[in-house]
Amino acid sequence: MRIFISGPSGVGKSTIIAEVLKHNPDFILSISYTTRLPRPGERDGRDYFFVPRETFEEMRAHGAFLEWAEVHAHLYGTSLEWVDSREREGLNVLFDIDVQGVSQALAKGSPGRSVLIVPPRWEDLSRRLENRGTEAPESLSLRLENAKQELLQWPLFDYLVINETVAHATHTINAIIHACRNERDETIRRLPWLSGIA
Ligand code: 5GP
Repeated sequence: MRIFISGPSGVGKSTIIAEVLKHNPDFILSISYTTRLPRPGERDGRDYFFVPRETFEEMRAHGAFLEWAEVHAHLYGTSLEWVDSREREGLNVLFDIDVQGVSQALAKGSPGRSVLIVPPRWEDLSRRLENRGTEAPESLSLRLENAKQELLQWPLFDYLVINETVAHATHTINAIIHACRNERDETIRRLPWLSGIA
């Protein structure tokens, strides 16, 4: 089972994803490849696979990515091989990728359900972005514009989850996952006798 989660920067996506993973131990967070440098505390192979741009471009040319995107001037991509291996191990995969990535993965026919995390009001997001530290390289207006561009893509998603509170959004995504577990194709995979019934 694949769950794609997107949301504009500042919407609280990472916190919600961490909570969802705690509740669903059979899910693993997809580890992407990126050309950006590690931030303090980030580890290669745990948070991302940090690679030089040339390596990334070579992988892309060889069709190694399920999807890829340029976000804030860095390249990010999901390795097909990595996802396949985790699925072969019997794990479900949760993806924290941007809207362009979700759209590509779905266009390529990837199975899965997509979730966009949205703020209750535009002002909630703009206030959070304004209050963010100076760590982000782009100007506030660029960050706001990027957030708007992501939110404009809401029709692409199966679910829009409103981040009223972290607890509430987590609960909603857990409910979506629960429903996905009971979708026809997912259930029949666990019940081969049913598909073989004559
Ligand atoms: P950060 O650099 O802050 O870790 O991530 C920046 C953005 O890149 C986030 O919105 C995240 O969802 C997105 N991102 C991370 N990995 C991937 C990926 O493999 N593909 C795509 N399309 N976006 C990604």
